[in-house]
Amino acid sequence: MNIPETVIVLGIPYTVERGGCEPDESGYCSPTKRVIGIREGLCREQEEQVFLHELIHAVLTGLAYDEEYENERLVQGLAVGLHQALFGPTSSS
Ligand SMILES: [Zn+2]
Repeated sequence: MNIPETVIVLGIPYTVERGGCEPDESGYCSPTKRVIGIREGLCREQEEQVFLHELIHAVLTGLAYDEEYENERLVQGLAVGLHQALFGPTSSS
């Protein structure tokens, strides 16, 4: 997957940046700044999963699913599940 530099989430443009993460996080989503951040130094699969994870946060906040936005288990489960289905070794693409 090519991680884009900009992604439009429900009509709102988000900039995708590298770095700027807290020591304990792999990425972040800032709906107020419209930024998705990805930690530097991750392997490609980790970067893709982090991008999907933060993208799901952005979609949830755009839909005003505030409780789900805070649910890291749900967000990470969706991210890994989508990543595996789309890019996993059993996909034909
Ligand atoms: Zn999260």
